[in-house]
Amino acid sequence: MNTIVLFSRLLTDRSKIKNYVMNFINEEYINSIIEDNRLKDESMQREIIAKALNAKGISLSEAGALLNISSPELYNELFHAAKTVKERIYGNRLVLFAPLYLTNACVNNCLYCAFRTDNKDLERRSLTLDEIEEEVKFLVHQGHKRLLLVAGEHPKKSSVKVIGEAIERVYSVNENGNNIRRVNVNVAPLSVEGFKELNSFGIGTYQIFQETYHFDTYKSMHVNGPKADYSWRVTAMDRALQAGIDDVGIGALFGLTDYRFETLAMLQHTFYLDATYGVGPHTISIPRLEPALNAPAALQPPFAVDDLSFKKLIAVIRLAVPYTGIILSTRENPEVRRDLFEVGVSQISAGSKTSPGSYLESKDADKKPELEQFQLGDHRTLDEVVKDVCGLGYLPSFCTACYRSNRTGDRFMELAKSGNIGKICVPNALTTFKEYLTDFAPGETKKLGMEFLQNELEKQPEAAKSKTEKMIERLDSGERDIYF
Ligand code: SAM
Ligand code: SF4
Repeated sequence: MNTIVLFSRLLTDRSKIKNYVMNFINEEYINSIIEDNRLKDESMQREIIAKALNAKGISLSEAGALLNISSPELYNELFHAAKTVKERIYGNRLVLFAPLYLTNACVNNCLYCAFRTDNKDLERRSLTLDEIEEEVKFLVHQGHKRLLLVAGEHPKKSSVKVIGEAIERVYSVNENGNNIRRVNVNVAPLSVEGFKELNSFGIGTYQIFQETYHFDTYKSMHVNGPKADYSWRVTAMDRALQAGIDDVGIGALFGLTDYRFETLAMLQHTFYLDATYGVGPHTISIPRLEPALNAPAALQPPFAVDDLSFKKLIAVIRLAVPYTGIILSTRENPEVRRDLFEVGVSQISAGSKTSPGSYLESKDADKKPELEQFQLGDHRTLDEVVKDVCGLGYLPSFCTACYRSNRTGDRFMELAKSGNIGKICVPNALTTFKEYLTDFAPGETKKLGMEFLQNELEKQPEAAKSKTEKMIERLDSGERDIYF
């Protein structure tokens, strides 16, 4: 029996996993990189930056060297390189999405999260299917096309069946051709069978964060509940990929342990997935701890990450895995977000709320978001974010084409690596942006956005330009949801 088959069988059996897991998160090796003083050498760091400009990625120890950067000159060189690589592969596009919280009921006890079971001050709420529909209509009317469904872990309130019914309801909403076209999901890890069932509802990316890859820290942060099992969580992506989910998203919650350890371990996880399944994670998320109600680790992060180190680690991730999407949420405030777009972020949430039912309730000024998971740093509406990013020279994209055109997993990566992503993504991005401007943007954003769009169109090579113009013509004559 080959190793993958053996591993795959073992991964379906929860009780046997833990003996097999630590072979891909190698703490000893990561610590040896962090402690290696040779990796502080500035001329070596400069050489690694030069190599990384080829957009072919860098090794774990090279990433370790870049995480040691401390001089202002090298910081600038690192940030410049990350920006260059991002622009070469992704151009100036920023893909937009919103989270939709289905339930804050949770049986786990993560010390950083307001949803934890021991937080008795949090009012628990699980949306009904009709409430989900109302929330989706609200988001569709803002102009959103991509959602991330989020839920606490609960055997009844967030079972696969419940999540599946929620996904079906989300996709069923259609407001004059406007609808949610990609549903990504961030829910507790499942068995291979569970992931197969989840996949059957037509999900985009399955996303879950390891929170911390550091075993002892993980144990101290997850005191009880199913999530206390480190191995079950860190092998979630294996099971998801084996179940046929092509696009998986990983992440770490920064602030729980040394950011260098977390970044290197997350990269080790990435390299392992790539080597084992022929495709790495579709996205990497970089949430940073925010204050949360009755969550001691969030109120006083044990390893708080300052803004400069945060920017550095994002730049290092961009250089290490040039083709992987990097997601930045509204946990960060607008100023920090603007600064981080520069070093390689490719997807952002906007107009987010982090409690079930809060989109509709936000229309009612008297109701406060008492049920939220953590405090947000960016409270702007989608329109305000769109206007801002355009002003900074980024192209807002509402594209959902790849997943619907079967360009997922290794097919997406091949496209990205061959440098062809721009030929497909730019026309799709421009057309979906035009759709947003036509249907949803208020006057000022519409005016600015149309000028921006025209400028972007002029910059395109002839083939992409004429392709986009034809798509926009169809849009102007009333057709919706145009992509290729
Ligand atoms: N309950 C599932 C889980 O834990 O995997 C689903 C996702 S949970 C609702 C979403 C994510 O929010 C967590 O994975 C965690 O990284 C993040 N999170 C929790 N508390 C946070 C806090 N105080 N600040 C920032 N992010 C937080
Ligand atoms: Fe529950 Fe997820 Fe919050 Fe942990 S992070 S308490 S599992 S909702």
